[in-house]
Amino acid sequence: KDAILQMPELNLSDKEKESKIREWMKSIFLTDEDVELIRKAFLEEIERGLEKTPEQKSSLQMENTFLPELPDGTDEFGNAVTEKDGVYLALDLGGTNFRVILLRMRKGEIIAQKVDYFHVPEAVRLGSGEQLFDFLAACIEEFVVAEKVSQEILPLGFCFSFPMHHAGLNIGILASWTKSFNCSGVIGKDVVKMLNTALHKKNIHVDVIAVLNDTTGTLVAGAQKDHDCAIGLIMGTGCNACYLEKVSRIGKWEGPHYDENEVVVDIEWGAFGDNGCIEFLKTKFDKEVDKQSLLAGTFTFEKYISGKYIGEIVRHVMIDLAEEGPFFGNHASERLLQFGSFTAKHVSTIEGETLSGGTDKIREVMSEMDLIYDKDDLRALQYICAVVSLRAAQLVAICVGYLLTRMNKPTATIAVDGSLYKNHPRLKGLMDHYTAVYAPGCKFQYMLALDGSGKGAGMVAAIAKRLTEKRTK
Ligand code: BGC
Ligand code: MG
Repeated sequence: KDAILQMPELNLSDKEKESKIREWMKSIFLTDEDVELIRKAFLEEIERGLEKTPEQKSSLQMENTFLPELPDGTDEFGNAVTEKDGVYLALDLGGTNFRVILLRMRKGEIIAQKVDYFHVPEAVRLGSGEQLFDFLAACIEEFVVAEKVSQEILPLGFCFSFPMHHAGLNIGILASWTKSFNCSGVIGKDVVKMLNTALHKKNIHVDVIAVLNDTTGTLVAGAQKDHDCAIGLIMGTGCNACYLEKVSRIGKWEGPHYDENEVVVDIEWGAFGDNGCIEFLKTKFDKEVDKQSLLAGTFTFEKYISGKYIGEIVRHVMIDLAEEGPFFGNHASERLLQFGSFTAKHVSTIEGETLSGGTDKIREVMSEMDLIYDKDDLRALQYICAVVSLRAAQLVAICVGYLLTRMNKPTATIAVDGSLYKNHPRLKGLMDHYTAVYAPGCKFQYMLALDGSGKGAGMVAAIAKRLTEKRTK
């Protein structure tokens, strides 16, 4: 565990190089004061985001997901009376793969599932909204035909991992695109309606009963295994979290008044700071990352952390070091200058070598990037990756730490999913450590909830069905 917390030693043979890189990276390190300021800003933005008419608009959406309950182990949902009763469809859209899933559930447990993946081409991700939903409908059609369920009207949970305004469990109005999507004509529209329209054109009958964010799916899937789950966290291509908030603390609450006292709130913290409230964090490298990103000027916080951008931050540091010298033979290769050429995978590889003490894979990365390098450069790259990863872990830990303090539960589990979290060899350890530092006295644990978006979407569909039945009784 201590090894995970250890920063790679710089100790370069060229001392001038060493002091240069230390100086260079200083801006990325968080001081204790930074940590305090970020925590304070996060707290204030949460409060504003929950208010009905805040004086200043919050950068945090704090969206009511309309999900008032989590699985608690006593669930009867999906408890098939007939076989058909426990069968659900789930959709998962957020990355470059679209997934369609058929789930069979019994007593809240998934007992069987069939998954199919469809690559969403860039032309579709950046085309018209109508084209996107026609594409999704075509995938669904292929799937239900192949699975021989095209004649049944199955309840469907749609995991749509973008910021939405919910007006009910099955109404999700797109607030903005993020990550690698930018389809025209969808912002401000209900994605469930758009999906239904596309499905009707093809004469496919399903019943979209819930639309949810992947953080919600992860929380629900996690809660099914561990009833202390209170936070759902995604660290993948994007980064975001949801948590259980007391309805009494939601000033802008417009949801129905049943008997719920808590509700899942999707924070959409990827946008934290879009109003400038944590601008002091932004280094020149972060500015470059933002400038070259698909949706510049938005999702400030996500760009410090998530898998889509972490490699980009490192790449921009490397470019500067190469151009200013005396690093990487004073030469920024074409490959290095290419947008997206250094990825989260590379960062994880380098961090893995830092842990194991090897250099072979770092050399491979250097060759792949067409870089000239010496021993000092290997260490420099390790150092950059470690500093950038450390900041990402600390930023998430500050926010999670605050949520833990805010919820003040005797013990809380954070259900996590996402490629970055799964593949980065030091991130988990760093997050455990710093969350404990930033949430003193809180009992917590992070728990990997694999495929929260898929499983969770099915479970939310099942919960939705139960809720409707309960409320119409
Ligand atoms: C989206 C969130 C999502 C996160 C993780 C962000 O870009 O805005 O809704 O939860 O990515 O997929
Ligand atoms: Mg996902």
